[in-house]
Amino acid sequence: MALSLPIYMDHAATTPCDPRVVEAMLPYFTEKFGNAGSRNHRFGWDAEAGIDAARDAAARLIGASEKEIIFTSGSTESNNLAIKGAAYMYEKAPAGSKSRGHIVTCSIEHKAVLDPVKRLVKEGFDATFIDPPADGVITAEMVQKALRDDTILVTIMWANNEIGTINDVRGIGKLCKERGILFHTDATQWTGKMPTNVDADHIDLLSWSGHKIYGPKGVGALYVRRHRPRVRLQALQDGGGQERGFRSGTLNITGIVGFGKACEIALNEMEADAIRLGRLRQKLEQGLTSQLDSCAINGRADGRLPHITNISFGFVEGEGLMMAVKNIACSSGSACTSASLEPSYVLKGLGVGDELAHSSLRLSLGRGTTEEQVDYAIAEIVKAVKKLRTMSPLYDMHKEGIDLSKVEWAHH
Ligand SMILES: *Cc1c(COP(=O)(O)O)cnc(C)c1O
Repeated sequence: MALSLPIYMDHAATTPCDPRVVEAMLPYFTEKFGNAGSRNHRFGWDAEAGIDAARDAAARLIGASEKEIIFTSGSTESNNLAIKGAAYMYEKAPAGSKSRGHIVTCSIEHKAVLDPVKRLVKEGFDATFIDPPADGVITAEMVQKALRDDTILVTIMWANNEIGTINDVRGIGKLCKERGILFHTDATQWTGKMPTNVDADHIDLLSWSGHKIYGPKGVGALYVRRHRPRVRLQALQDGGGQERGFRSGTLNITGIVGFGKACEIALNEMEADAIRLGRLRQKLEQGLTSQLDSCAINGRADGRLPHITNISFGFVEGEGLMMAVKNIACSSGSACTSASLEPSYVLKGLGVGDELAHSSLRLSLGRGTTEEQVDYAIAEIVKAVKKLRTMSPLYDMHKEGIDLSKVEWAHH
């Protein structure tokens, strides 16, 4: 069968909806369109039954109880609610005094964590942004060093969206529990792909999102622990008091039903998916690194998600590389800001130089990825990198054995 182009290798950015998810959602657009808040008629009860089933599936995926699940519009909102909601609820001192409390996070979190924390800093909270080591993995020891007497919250992602590295969530959770500090994790890249249990890992708050796990966009959830401790949050939005007051607004029933179905499928299939994708990822990495010299896989080898790889290719120019592999839908190590292409702050955070960051590709596999697509990606990328290197004088010098770090460059 002919390969349909372009191929999709950007599942860390978003995933297609599983057809079983779409099928589950359809009745809730039309015959079961009621408002789950309508207590007096069939339409409302049908909607509520759909929500209940979704809540049950979401809770089961993470080893929680249904009462601990708050539906949101996705991980960005879940992170905002967890981080700001906890900070406002547990702040140590009134606004205007020296510090309202301290928050610990890390400098390679997603913007949906970094920016809420930065907002709190502007409002008078203190924060420590832990810099990762070169392998990208945050350990309990690093978090311990950052804790203070006035620390309210630790927020550390479970797995990194750019490089797929996995942090020591269990160790960090245990540490926070011992110190009586709330622990939130942005589990958007982890939950639904890998086993999640909020009790085993001592998690108080956990965010995840529908569209990263083959569900619809615009829906996600926040887990809020109810026992030992009972976590309270200040709501960020006032209104009808839905979701036990944590998140007012008429429930997005179609989205939530789809999210629930995606959680149910994930629980049943993630193990098989992870094994299959892990093999394909290994094949991809091996295919590239065996045929190309001067390329490096970013992030600790044995602590990564099975379906994400991030590779820097030396002696190629980043924009040229992206152009040359345009039949492979993937992400580059450059981030578009309004004016220019900036190297990824995650790769920079690991100590990857600007040039190499620009010439990096994040390839992320998913349920629809085939062996044939992986073969195609290997061949295309090898071809592109080899071709670009024929145009690189630096690569010639490198091959002649000139140590480029010792060359004195003329600066203009
Ligand atoms: C995608 C992603 C988000 C944002 O999730 P949305 O549901 O799109 O708001 C947050 N954190 C991580 C790690 C992500 O990968």
